[in-house]
Amino acid sequence: MTELCRCWSCKGQLEPAQQLRFLVETDNLDNPAYLSHIRALPSVKGRPIPVCKACQAQIEAAPRRPVVKLQPKPVAVSGLLGALGALSVGLLISGLFAPRG
Ligand SMILES: [Zn+2]
Repeated sequence: MTELCRCWSCKGQLEPAQQLRFLVETDNLDNPAYLSHIRALPSVKGRPIPVCKACQAQIEAAPRRPVVKLQPKPVAVSGLLGALGALSVGLLISGLFAPRG
């Protein structure tokens, strides 16, 4: 094995210890009792995800955020930004195709 796994979150290189944890946990997916004993990595749908120590610390600092419904305001703002973006693209395109002279 020449290349280590990449961090699932930041795509950085995984520390060897994290890599080992990921391999061992993946290896023991069919052995839940042992897995729950050794489990150290965050998991998605029961499968361990390879993350570096920094990202794991972040994930553990903010565990299972409650799903907050978006307020109407940010949606309106993003809609406005989208409209502005479309407008600027339209201006750009019309500028490109405008007759020169
Ligand atoms: Zn990371």
